[in-house]
Amino acid sequence: MTRAGIVTVVGKPNAGKSTLLNRIVGEKLAIVSDKPQSTRDRVVGIRTTDDTQMVVLDTPGLLNPRYELHRAMRTTALRALADADVIVYLADATERVPPPLEEAADLTAPPRAPVISVLNKVDALRSVERDELRALLPEARFISALNGDGVDELLAELSLVLPEGPFLYPEDEISTASVRFFVGELVRETALEQLDQEVPYSLACVVEEFREGRTPVYIRTVLYVERESQKRILIGSGGQRIRDIGRAARAKVEQLVGEPVYLDLWVKVLPNWRKSDSALRRFGYRLHDDPSS
Ligand code: GDP
Ligand code: MG
Repeated sequence: MTRAGIVTVVGKPNAGKSTLLNRIVGEKLAIVSDKPQSTRDRVVGIRTTDDTQMVVLDTPGLLNPRYELHRAMRTTALRALADADVIVYLADATERVPPPLEEAADLTAPPRAPVISVLNKVDALRSVERDELRALLPEARFISALNGDGVDELLAELSLVLPEGPFLYPEDEISTASVRFFVGELVRETALEQLDQEVPYSLACVVEEFREGRTPVYIRTVLYVERESQKRILIGSGGQRIRDIGRAARAKVEQLVGEPVYLDLWVKVLPNWRKSDSALRRFGYRLHDDPSS
């Protein structure tokens, strides 16, 4: 008998969602960054072991108190919660006791699926702090997504909650999201690593062309920003910054694609794209009341 279902990971920016997701799926699928908010769409990773398949969803931005989430992003994240068979509510243990999920996500009703509270980054706690937290939160699981402590136990527990049934995806498929999407996220991640706090929310990346079957693989990507001033920041004086971004991004993309890549990188201004439904759709967001999503 096999088990299969959806595990949705929710947590504040920097809680370690992407790190955990990468560990669960075993591939660099979600984007890890110490800058908040670098994964914007829900990322689907799939972990298939002998008799269990977990489809893992991310909910970027849902618990970000400093940022009023565009309704399209919130819709995407709430959908990931509603689709879940089990929800992992991940919090940073170094920030002490997290609020309940309903409060943190401003939900009108508790989620249908069971919620497992998980405190991450226990490697960064002193043992007395760990003991205090355990006493305060006896129900919580303690893990380090970074070094793997507690993750196998968590996965075993999640497996048991998943419904019995056939696998949802073929065994060798690691993700339903396309390589194109991840290439865009890698380029965006690389750009974020080199920018200050000013630009991140305004930055989107789209892969406009992906020509395989030749060496190097030709990939044209466009980084979209909202203002000319942001474009100038991204390009840097004499084009130095965009060249650095391109070089670093190409190395990551080659790892993902497994072949030499020619990365053709452009920067364009699309004013107020975060308020434009057509732009959001183009960048992969689900929109509220969108019958096609
Ligand atoms: P997300 O915003 O929730 O997706 O968080 P990320 O996975 O991008 O992680 C944010 C930061 O926390 C990164 O610098 C990670 O390396 C770090 N981090 C994640 N998990 C752990 C952990 O278990 N221990 C420690 N010490 N750092 C972690
Ligand atoms: Mg993330």
